[in-house]
Amino acid sequence: MTTTATTTSGTVRRGTGTTPILASEALPPGQHFIAGGFRPGITGEKQAVVNPANESTICEVAQGTAEDADAAVLAAVEAKEAWGRTLPKKRAETLLAIADRLEENADLLARLESLNTGKPLMVSEDDVASSIDSFRFMAGAARATTSLAAGEYAEDHLSVILREPLGVVGVVTPWNYPLLMAVWKIAPILAAGNTIVLKPSEQTPLTTLKFAELTADLLPPGVLNIVTGLGPVIGERLAAHPNVDMIALTGSVNSGRAVARTASETVKRVHLELGGKAPVVIFADADLQAAAESLRVAGYWNSGQECGAGCRVLVHESVAERFAELLVEQVGTLVVGEPTAGSDVEIGPMISKAHFERVLGHLERAKEAGAKAVLGGGALEGSGYFVAPTVLVDVPEGAACTLEEIFGPVVTIETFSAEDEAVSRANEVPYGLAASVWTLNAQLGHDMASRLDAGTVWVNSHLVLANEMPWSGFKSSGYGRDLSAYALDDYSRTKHVMHNKAR
Ligand code: NAD
Repeated sequence: MTTTATTTSGTVRRGTGTTPILASEALPPGQHFIAGGFRPGITGEKQAVVNPANESTICEVAQGTAEDADAAVLAAVEAKEAWGRTLPKKRAETLLAIADRLEENADLLARLESLNTGKPLMVSEDDVASSIDSFRFMAGAARATTSLAAGEYAEDHLSVILREPLGVVGVVTPWNYPLLMAVWKIAPILAAGNTIVLKPSEQTPLTTLKFAELTADLLPPGVLNIVTGLGPVIGERLAAHPNVDMIALTGSVNSGRAVARTASETVKRVHLELGGKAPVVIFADADLQAAAESLRVAGYWNSGQECGAGCRVLVHESVAERFAELLVEQVGTLVVGEPTAGSDVEIGPMISKAHFERVLGHLERAKEAGAKAVLGGGALEGSGYFVAPTVLVDVPEGAACTLEEIFGPVVTIETFSAEDEAVSRANEVPYGLAASVWTLNAQLGHDMASRLDAGTVWVNSHLVLANEMPWSGFKSSGYGRDLSAYALDDYSRTKHVMHNKAR
């Protein structure tokens, strides 16, 4: 990679180049999926999809326009009544059939995801397995919704709560987990009886299009529609469209703000899952070895391009040096490489040239502010957007690298001396998605969990998720709830029906 930024020692393991990760016939059509079939964009304009591991072009997909989005919304509107009226049992059967179809094609989907994102196969395989389980969970949850008890709350009047679909949900997804983030929306939105128009990230549309291709015979036409293209064009149109009942976006805070602003014009519901900067608070009594081993994964999974990554360590000053040594020991063993370079590759490239340069810019500014890279600290030589797994120490309090989302393989280490200081420093970031606390004192762990301002708090763990439990943020991380039965609540509405039973 040609860059003006520092390159760092360390190597990128390269694939042999003899066997492609996926045969080109397995690519999905590079077109919109509307009303049950693929169709080209109205203008015929296209955009290249790039492999970030070697910077080659994989294929081209349609660059949609507002008119393409409108066609998809029309299809979703036409399908919504029939789909909304299907019995939960039928919807559950459909979701289970989708899960089976994904399972039959799990290897293909994982390879396609790795081709498009450069992520190691172990990460893509985990994404696909979790996607399958998400559909299975939502299939069950669709048949077991709970609500207030029906009953007489006003004299001679019987109250019943109906839980209804919202109608058409517009969805915008990011590039870091293209299939998984799409599924986190599609599964509950369909389970709740809505129809969908989804816009994948312009950088990573392939597994979402493949999903549409693989499940085309399982869903009635118009229930799921995919429009490819740019956020400010397609995403904005979905947020503005009067026939879209909710806009759900996973992405950066700026994109979240943009759709929320536009959605306010039609007073539509907004569901936002935005960025994160998870603090990891380590007390003096913690199992430091366990914390370092956990952060080897939780700080660097998906090359740190992870909204819940444990990237901001606050460690008690008495054990800070020892912890930094243990973390460096752990992180130094991470295998960086192309997805074709073996099943033990753990770290892939940044998603794009622009993001690669952004991460390197963060590293340069961190060093200028006084931080020291005890591991990594820059780009790795050769083609592809690879950044060395990095540990930064001597990070001054308030430095940008501790407050802003870097979204790369970078963990910062800061120290604290007292519990209250740990809480206020952990909570000072504008984000509130996730956090962890490490201590062997159960009371302290519990107390810290209640004081940390984040939608998920782990005690003696980090980045372990369960499809039964909600994933959602506070503050600038947004307020939508993904996963769990709470997602079904978010994607449905309650209606109170009152019967006069006086005779
Ligand atoms: P991004 O905001 O740049 O893009 C996300 C999506 O929004 C893309 O499809 C993009 O085309 C679209 N978009 C961009 N501008 C838009 C606009 N003005 N109107 C409508 N849509 C617009 O984010 P990204 O770089 O793809 O993803 C990384 C971000 O996503 C990080 O901040 C990360 O923390 C966040 N993220 C959050 C979660 C979560 O669960 N909270 C999960 C994954 C990623």
